[in-house]
Amino acid sequence: MNFNSFIPLFDLNKQYLSIKDEVDRVLISVAKSGQFILGKEVVAFEHEFAEYQRTRHCVGTSSGTSALYLALLGIGIGFGDEVITVPNSFVATGESIVMSGAEIVFTDIDPDTYSMDPNRLEAVITKKTKAIMPVHLYGQMADMDSIIEIAEKYDLAIIEDAAQAHGAEYNGKRAGEMTTCACFSFYPTKNLGAFGDAGAIVTNDEKIAEKLRFIRDHGRNSPDHSVLQGVNERLDSIQAAVLRVKLTYLEKWNDRRRELSRLLSRYLGDVSEVTVPKERAIDTHVYHLYVIQADSRDQLTKYLREHGIGTGIHYKNPIHLQKAYAGYSDRPGRFPVTEKLSHRILTLPMYPELKKSDVTKIAESIKIFYAKKS
Ligand SMILES: *Cc1c(COP(=O)(O)O)cnc(C)c1O
Repeated sequence: MNFNSFIPLFDLNKQYLSIKDEVDRVLISVAKSGQFILGKEVVAFEHEFAEYQRTRHCVGTSSGTSALYLALLGIGIGFGDEVITVPNSFVATGESIVMSGAEIVFTDIDPDTYSMDPNRLEAVITKKTKAIMPVHLYGQMADMDSIIEIAEKYDLAIIEDAAQAHGAEYNGKRAGEMTTCACFSFYPTKNLGAFGDAGAIVTNDEKIAEKLRFIRDHGRNSPDHSVLQGVNERLDSIQAAVLRVKLTYLEKWNDRRRELSRLLSRYLGDVSEVTVPKERAIDTHVYHLYVIQADSRDQLTKYLREHGIGTGIHYKNPIHLQKAYAGYSDRPGRFPVTEKLSHRILTLPMYPELKKSDVTKIAESIKIFYAKKS
């Protein structure tokens, strides 16, 4: 195998080279401006990203994690409250709830979408429940109609963890359009990625947006006066400038991810040892990650690595089985869908810069692995 043809799980350099001139120009422009925190690049990006998600407001933050945590603070959730989320997510989802002072209550996922199973939701709602935090995992939105119906019945806020779902749609609606707010990460490998940590909250609620603008900046309404107890979780100008450039490509990039993903699903459709991602009729899936279920997953991982294909597992350790969060549900077996899938899921390379021949190679390698095995 020619090592140069290695297909890594992510390839940020290829993306940079494809937009290098434009990005280099804005980096220099911010350097010359002398304005590095918030400022006009951030204001402009917030307008553009709010428009992209079809919401009225966007508040830029220092990361996706801080976006989640600030959203909780912004709607007044804290000590004594409970927030329901899923254990099959990046640890930041649970972490943000703990940081707000509230308690995490986990509920299991739907085996087809890997996201919150609304049928299990009502069973964990208590008098202390204040919000539901569904995660639009891998770029596919959770079952929002059912989740919204339950939230309305119990008068709960919905904070969407949309860190993997920029531009994703459910029945034509984007994250933030239908709920209290949606939180995004612009971590470099996300569909819209900065050159470092960055995040944002989008909402149609003007009061929440206004409060979040204060909280992210020490709660200040002027340089010398804090009207609220806040934090320092602002978005940097340089990140906003990079994000503005990349946002103009995002629809095209998401279309390409979808095209390549459907091609890969078609190639893998007849491999009985593999389950490909399921798109529902209401989905505009943006394939942040292309995740299959695979028999003999760990052997397949090793085989693919030896044959020039990088893979990942999202997520290997469900949040409730990690030491720091064990208190929120100690015993394995409590979230059987999440736990069973954690041994079968495998993330394959998927990004707009992949070539169709890369997709063919990935599919062929998987087929050869199973053919040799049987
Ligand atoms: C990336 C991610 C986060 C955290 O975002 P950061 O920008 O890394 O802080 C939260 N939730 C999910 C589902 C993510 O994928």
